Amino acid sequence: MDKRIIADVVVCGGGPAGVNAAIAAGRSGARTVLVERYGFIGGMSTAALVYPWMTFHTTEGKQVIAGIAQEMIDRLKERNASPGHVRDTVGFVHTITPYHPEHYKILALEMLREAGVKVLLHSFVDQVDVAESRIQSVQLTTKSGKIQVQGKVFIDATGDADIAYLAGAPCLQGRDGDRLTQPMTMKFRMRGVDLERVKQYMLEHPDEFYKKTPFEELPTLPLSGVLGYYKHWKEANLPINRDQVLFFTGPEADEVLVNTTRVQGLDGTDVEDLTEAEELGRKQVLMVAEFMRSRLPGFEKASLSSVGAQIGIRETRRIDGVYALQVDDVVQGRRFTDVIARSGYPIDIHDPSGKGVTAAWVQGDGAYDIPYRCLLPQKLSNLLTAGRCISTTHEALATTRLTPSCMATGQAAGSAAGLAVRDEITVSDVDIQELQYIMEVDGALLK
Ligand SMILES: Cc1cc2nc3c(=O)[nH]c(=O)nc-3n(C[C@H](O)[C@H](O)[C@H](O)COP(=O)(O)OP(=O)(O)OC[C@H]3O[C@@H](n4cnc5c(N)ncnc54)[C@H](O)[C@@H]3O)c2cc1C
Repeated sequence: MDKRIIADVVVCGGGPAGVNAAIAAGRSGARTVLVERYGFIGGMSTAALVYPWMTFHTTEGKQVIAGIAQEMIDRLKERNASPGHVRDTVGFVHTITPYHPEHYKILALEMLREAGVKVLLHSFVDQVDVAESRIQSVQLTTKSGKIQVQGKVFIDATGDADIAYLAGAPCLQGRDGDRLTQPMTMKFRMRGVDLERVKQYMLEHPDEFYKKTPFEELPTLPLSGVLGYYKHWKEANLPINRDQVLFFTGPEADEVLVNTTRVQGLDGTDVEDLTEAEELGRKQVLMVAEFMRSRLPGFEKASLSSVGAQIGIRETRRIDGVYALQVDDVVQGRRFTDVIARSGYPIDIHDPSGKGVTAAWVQGDGAYDIPYRCLLPQKLSNLLTAGRCISTTHEALATTRLTPSCMATGQAAGSAAGLAVRDEITVSDVDIQELQYIMEVDGALLK
């Protein structure tokens, strides 16, 4: 081993979940290290151009996610890097939250430093040392050699449950039966789009767009997202197994982020599959961009402005933890006594093998609870998970995976880790009421 670092809390993965976990742990006073394989922070939000964040609200417009995530929005707004929460003109949810990914990268690093977190970029966790059901350390492979990071509590925010998996905790992948996961999507941006022309076309041809598009309000609402162009898409007959075009506007006034490519049947934890997916995704980007430029009104002068540094991965491994959030828990808006986060985002399954998207909305007050026990893996007493790899079914993951909920479970994991370090206890012995109290003082919405 070339170097050893000693910490209280070690957060693996610097995506939306890991960043917020590390900020919360750092603010608790614990010596915190955040490890990220790329040269920048943000995970899917930056590496794969995932945009916008959705959603902080229920479909009725009640805010159910705040805390550190809201603090970030407020600070992005101050630097003109986000308009805040705006109405979703797709009509799928009530609000969406556009943001500038380059400002997010920097803001996240600033907030981590303010919280006293030591950040290690360009560091890949590839080994986990376990003794007596406790993770002792993780090993990083870096340009400067192998680094061992010892800690008291570890947080797996890798999206892929890499830490839990390497430590031997039970994990699951994809849907029951065939293990197929939601498809991957290579996202891209185009500039030079005439969004007034796009809106005008939508108002003149409502049948060609998603049925929940808020057409009555559209003349006065800024266009934030568009779903449809069924006729154009069908006529083009591209070799992409999808039935509609989806894009969101921004961050610049003539810019859109396109979420329309689809790569199915490949495993995001298999490097050969990933290699194939990156090539397929990029070929689809060129096809879809040319389709949009040549066929969609308002795109005549548009051109590609950026493409994800990696393909967007919706689903891979998740822990088979102490409790797996169920589809009924989400749809019925079930309450849990150990709630540590809430969300109003519907179940939204991009078909692992077919063309469409399956959606189911949350009933009750429009939000469901994520209980603390979903963050806990089996067999390990000092590991918490946060973000996309928490314990859920394939169906429930289709809502917990959205960025604001990942930020919220990240904050919960970081605060819980802080308590476990302070009291020298296992993560399953953390006092839930104290955790909830601390989170609410820190702005989280749990009621
Ligand atoms: C195509 C697509 C469209 C989406 N659309 C939306 C949307 O419109 N709105 C929305 O809110 N959400 C959307 N999502 C969901 C959201 O982007 C992700 O689920 C969310 O980013 C997950 O956050 P995370 O922090 O758990 O994981 P990630 O964002 O995946 O972050 C994990 C981090 O860990 C790092 N890492 C992984 N393994 C290691 C390792 N072994 N060592 C070191 N570092 C490691 C990664 O580099 C990454 O930075 C979309 C996702 C995809 C793929």
